[in-house]
Amino acid sequence: MNARNTLDFLLYDWIQVHSLGDRPRFADHSRETFDAVLDTCERIAREKYAPFNRLVDTQEPQFDGEKVILPQATHEAQKAYAASGMLSAAQDYDIGGMQLPYTVEAAANSFFAMASVSIGSGMLTTGNANLLMVHGTELQKQVFALNEFSGRFSGTMCLSEPQAGSSLSDVATRAVPDGEGFESDPLGPRYRLKGNKMWISAGEHELTENIIHLVLAKIPGEHGKLVPGTRGISLFIVPKKLVDTDGQLTGERNDVALAGLNHKCGWRGTTNTLLNFGEGKYPVRGEAGAVGYLVGQPGKGLHCMFHMMNEARIGVGLAATMLGMAGYQASLDYAKNRPQGRPMGPAGKDAAQPQIRIIEHADVKRMLLAQKAYCEGALALELYCARLVDEQHTGDAGAADDARLLLEVLTPIAKSWPSEWCLEANSLAIQIHGGYGYTRDFPVEQYWRDNRLNMIHEGTHGIQGMDLLGRKVLMEEGRGLQLLAARMQATIEQAGLIAELAPHASALKEALRHVGAATRSAWATGNPTDALANAVPYLQAFGHTVLAWIWLDVALASRAKAAGQGEAAHTGRLAAARYFFHYELPKIGAWLKVVESRDLTCADCPEEAF
Ligand SMILES: Cc1cc2nc3c(=O)[nH]c(=O)nc-3n(C[C@H](O)[C@H](O)[C@H](O)COP(=O)(O)OP(=O)(O)OC[C@H]3O[C@@H](n4cnc5c(N)ncnc54)[C@H](O)[C@@H]3O)c2cc1C
Repeated sequence: MNARNTLDFLLYDWIQVHSLGDRPRFADHSRETFDAVLDTCERIAREKYAPFNRLVDTQEPQFDGEKVILPQATHEAQKAYAASGMLSAAQDYDIGGMQLPYTVEAAANSFFAMASVSIGSGMLTTGNANLLMVHGTELQKQVFALNEFSGRFSGTMCLSEPQAGSSLSDVATRAVPDGEGFESDPLGPRYRLKGNKMWISAGEHELTENIIHLVLAKIPGEHGKLVPGTRGISLFIVPKKLVDTDGQLTGERNDVALAGLNHKCGWRGTTNTLLNFGEGKYPVRGEAGAVGYLVGQPGKGLHCMFHMMNEARIGVGLAATMLGMAGYQASLDYAKNRPQGRPMGPAGKDAAQPQIRIIEHADVKRMLLAQKAYCEGALALELYCARLVDEQHTGDAGAADDARLLLEVLTPIAKSWPSEWCLEANSLAIQIHGGYGYTRDFPVEQYWRDNRLNMIHEGTHGIQGMDLLGRKVLMEEGRGLQLLAARMQATIEQAGLIAELAPHASALKEALRHVGAATRSAWATGNPTDALANAVPYLQAFGHTVLAWIWLDVALASRAKAAGQGEAAHTGRLAAARYFFHYELPKIGAWLKVVESRDLTCADCPEEAF
C-alpha cells in the first residue's frame, strides 16, 4: 500500500470527504476536483521536492553578510507551489482562492511534507495570511494577505524570544506609538518595535519580494512599564521592506536585522533565525525602531494568534505523520530486498539454505506493523480533525459547536501524538536498516532528525499535556470529553456486533472508562500541582485511547470496503488495528497508574538528588 492509496481510502471511504460537495460553500467541488488537486500536489512534490530532500539537508542556509543563500532547488520548488494556487486553496473565489475544504487542503499538503518537509514554508505564509483575513482591516488584507496568497510575499510568526518560549507572558518586545498621527496610518495604527525574536522560521531569505512578520509585542502602559502576563500582548504586521497602500515596495528597508542563523539538527531546508527588531541597523526616517502596524485590538494579540492554532497544530501533526510515513515506506522497501539470516526450525538453522529476506522475520514484521499502526493511525486522526475544522466552518450551528469543542480536546493529541509516535516510527525505520540506517547513505536518519522538531515547536509535549489535563478536559464542565466519549461509544457499539472486532470494542470501552476515572482522580484534591505532575503520561494514555478508537472506526470502514475490493489492504488494516489493541493500548495501564495515584516521585525529587 502506498501513501496515496491510504490517503484515498481514509478521505473517501472513511470520512467521506466528497459529501462536503453538498454544502453551498463547496458546491462546485466533487471527488473529481479533489482528485485533481491531490494529483497536482503529488506530482509537484514528486518532481520539485523529493529529489532535493538530501540536498537541502547538506546545503544548509548560508548568510554572506548581506543575504541568506538557499539552494536554487528551493526557489524552484516554492515557485511551483505558489503557481499551483495552494497558498490560497481555502480562500474565496473572488480573491483568487479555490474554496477548497480544509480537509482536502491538508491532505494535498501532506505530499510535500513527505517529499521534503523543510523545503516548504507555505504553511507559515498561509497561516499568516489567513490570520489577517480574519483579524486584519480591509487594507491590511489587500496589501499584505493577498500578496502572500499570490506568493509575492511570504510570512512568518514571531512569538518566541530568547527568554520567552513556552512562557509567552514574558515577551519583552516593546511597541510604542510612532509619533504624531500614529493612529491614522491607513495600514493600521503605526508603532515602533524594539526587541529580539528567537527561532523564527523563514525569518530571512530571498525567496520572495518581501517578508511579512507577524510579531507579538507589548505596548507599555502608563509610566512606560510593560503589563505583566499575556493580557498586555498585541499583534503587529512588521514588513521586512516597507510598502505603500498599493502594496508596492517604497524602497525603504524596515529596521529588522538578521542577528544569526540557527544551525539545526534537522529541517535544514528552512532558515531559522534570531531577528533583532529596532536595533537601529536599518533606521527608518532617521530613527531606530521597526515600523509595525497593529492588527486587531491592543492587548488581544494572543487571541488573534490562537485563532490559527488548531490548523497550525494539525499541520504540525500531519508533517510528523508524513515523515513517519516516509520512513515506513523506505524501511518496507528495504525489508523486502535485504537478505539476512535463516529461519529457525525445530532442528535449528540450516546454513545450506539461502538467506531469507528480513521481512520474513517476525521481529522485522513487528517493527513494520508498529510503523504502519502509528503512521496510518496518525494520518486518520489528522484527517478526522481537519474534517472537524470544515464542520466548524460550514456545519449547522449545533454541529459546528460540537466540532469546535471536540477540536479543543483533540488538538493537543493531533499535535503531540504523531510527534512522539511517528518519531518512534522513524527510529524503527532506522532499526530495520541495521547499520545502514545509521549512515547518511540512506534517507531514514534524516527523517528522524527532521521529525525530532515536532515535539518541541508549537507547544512542547509538556505544554500540550498541561493544556489537555489542565484546561481542555475541564472546560465547559467537561462537555468536550463527554462529546468525544459519545463518539467513541457509537463506534464501540457498532464494532461490538462484529465477532472479529468485538474484543477490541470491549478493550476500548475499558480504556475509555479508565481515562475518565483517571481524569477525576487526578483532580481529586483540586490541587493543580498534584494533578499536573503527570500531565504527559496522561497525554500519552489519552492519545493511545483516541488512536485505538480511530483504528476501530477505520477497521469498520475497511470491512465495508473489503466486500468489493482491496483484500490485501483490508488485511493490512485489520492487522494494524490488532497490533494497536494488543501491543499498544495495554500501555495506558502504566501511564494512568501514576496519574490516578497522583504520584509525586518526579515532582518531589530534590534538585540536589539528580
Ligand atoms: C526549528 C524551530 C523552529 C521554530 N519556529 C518558530 C517560529 O517560526 N516562530 C516562533 O515564534 N517560534 C518558533 N520556534 C520556537 C518554539 O516554539 C520554542 O522553541 C518552544 O515554544 C519552546 O520554547 P523554548 O525553546 O524557549 O523552550 P523552554 O520553554 O525553555 O522549554 C524547555 C523545556 O522545559 C519545559 N517547560 C517549560 N515550561 C514548562 C512548564 N511551565 N511546565 C513544565 N515544563 C515546562 C518544556 O516542555 C521543555 O521541555 C521554533 C523552534 C525551533 C526549534
